Amino acid sequence: MGVVETEAIVLRTYKLADADKIVVALTRDRGVVRGVARGARRLRSRFGAGLEPLTLVEIAYFEKEGRELAAIKRAEITRSHFALARHTGAWEAAERMCALVMEFLPPGQGDERVFRLLRATLGALEEHPDRHAAMERYFEVWLLRLCGFWPDVERCAACGRALDGEARWAQGRLICQRCGTGTALDHETQRALVLAARLGPAEWAERAGTAQVALLTTDALARARER
Ligand SMILES: [Zn+2]
Repeated sequence: MGVVETEAIVLRTYKLADADKIVVALTRDRGVVRGVARGARRLRSRFGAGLEPLTLVEIAYFEKEGRELAAIKRAEITRSHFALARHTGAWEAAERMCALVMEFLPPGQGDERVFRLLRATLGALEEHPDRHAAMERYFEVWLLRLCGFWPDVERCAACGRALDGEARWAQGRLICQRCGTGTALDHETQRALVLAARLGPAEWAERAGTAQVALLTTDALARARER
C-alpha cells in the first residue's frame, strides 16, 4: 500500500462526475489497476493527455487498504498511440485487445509478460495499421498462451508425437490424425502457430498465414470463458 510508481498502459477510461475520470490501466508488474483521476477532464488538467486510452505512461497512484479504486496522482506520457486513431480498424482491434486483458487478467495479478505483449503489439500496430487483423490474432494466441488456455502446437495432446503437417483442432487441443477427428489445419496455419512463439507481432503478421487462426482463437476464447 502507499504510493506506487510504475509503467502502465491505459486500457480504458470512464467519465466520473463533472471533471473526473475512472482509469483502467495495465501496470508493468501489478496487473490491472482501477483508479480515479481527479480533475482529469478539465481543460488544463495536470494529467494533460496522459490518461487517454492506449497511452503508455509513467504513472503514480495511491492505494488504500480496502478501497477498490486507487487515487491517480500523476501520469506522464512515454508513448502515445494517437496515430492509431486515424485507422478505424486498427483502433478497434487495439480496443478489443485491451478488453481481453481486462477480461482475462485476474484483478491484482501482475504479469509482466502480458504488459510486454500489449506494449509490443500496440507498437507494431501503429507501424503497420493495415495488418491489424493478423496482429490481433497474434495477441490472442499469446494472451491465451500466457493465461494457460492455449494448447501445445508442436505435439499431439493425446499421444505426444510431433505434429508434422497433420494437426487437427479438437475441442481446444491439437491432435494427430491417428488420435481422432477434428478440424484439419492447413500447413500454413500450423506453421503460423509454431512461428507465433518465435516471432514478434510485426514479423509474424508479415510472414505467417493467418487465415485459419481466427477460427482457433475464437474457439479457444469461448472455451476459456466457459471455465
Ligand atoms: Zn496423436
